[in-house]
Amino acid sequence: MALLSVAVAVNLFMTHHLYLALIGSGFLTALLYAGYLCKIEKNYIKPAWIVSLVLGILLYGLILDGKGDRGAYSLILFFPVIVYPLLGLKKGTYLYFIFGSLIWLTTLYGTQYWSLQDPYMHLLNTSLTLLAGGVVLYNAERFVKELIESFHKTSITDPLTGLWNRKMSDEMLERVDDESRRYKKNYSVILLDIDFFKKINDTYGHQAGDKVLVEFSKIVEQNTRKSDMVFRWGGEEFLVILPNTSLNGAAITAEKIINKVRNHKYPDLEEGMTVSAGVAENTNHMEKDRFFKRVDEALYQAKDEGRDRYILAH
Ligand code: GH3
Ligand code: MG
Ligand code: MG
Repeated sequence: MALLSVAVAVNLFMTHHLYLALIGSGFLTALLYAGYLCKIEKNYIKPAWIVSLVLGILLYGLILDGKGDRGAYSLILFFPVIVYPLLGLKKGTYLYFIFGSLIWLTTLYGTQYWSLQDPYMHLLNTSLTLLAGGVVLYNAERFVKELIESFHKTSITDPLTGLWNRKMSDEMLERVDDESRRYKKNYSVILLDIDFFKKINDTYGHQAGDKVLVEFSKIVEQNTRKSDMVFRWGGEEFLVILPNTSLNGAAITAEKIINKVRNHKYPDLEEGMTVSAGVAENTNHMEKDRFFKRVDEALYQAKDEGRDRYILAH
């Protein structure tokens, strides 16, 4: 209240008009309320509307007050610049359309009552400014959105196989763990490591090795469910997260993958290839590092026992 009284006093002093002082203070109240909603209630939708509407009324008032002055008209462009990021593409366009129509009607009205030098040129300029502002910002937002999406996609996918990368596996594992805790359902993982992959590289070259990795990733994808998630965990190591799946279910999937990998004919290799796996179910929401230590141990046991097999973690 104290702040508002000061605001009214300052406005009054600056404008010497009570009604202008009240309007200014009304704006300030609205902005303070928006700040309150943001900070205390963590509500960002209402504040976005409040700021957009205050800005719209303010700009409209300035344009009206300018009585056709070009300087005031150039302020039109401020509107979309603020409103699009605040409200997003759809709502921003609606509001900009309403604002634009209001400006346009006001200009039309102004051509009769204001002393505009070339009223029709003025009207054309206004229309073009409104159109340009809308079109540029509409496309700019889409461009920025696409750019951000493409950056995001690059940061979470492995460029060779197109699978999600290890960083994404951490994120997904956390999500699956949270959900399984909430819905009281267990999930399992399969950690796969191709057998003697170094030898494949040494014999056929790195490029052939790369092609084999791509083929391998396809086999894993084709033999898992849509709800399962496949990641390239490291060089020739892959992780499958199987939500709502018991150890037994995961073992069946691991066996299927191992058999398919063994029986597949790789065009770049003269002989076949095999893979080993560690399989584990996270029954009591074990902390991630401990859980993966068990999966790792199972995988190494599979390697020790002769590869081309899976071992269940206990
Ligand atoms: P093991 O059966 O014990 O797993 O033997 P391994 O040879 O598969 O295991 P090791 O860890 O010794 O070798 C893994 C090899 O994978 C070494 C590395 O050069 C190769 N590698 C890792 N990333 C890539 C890649 O992106 N492309 C290719 N072609 N090779 C890769
Ligand atoms: Mg390895
Ligand atoms: Mg290996």
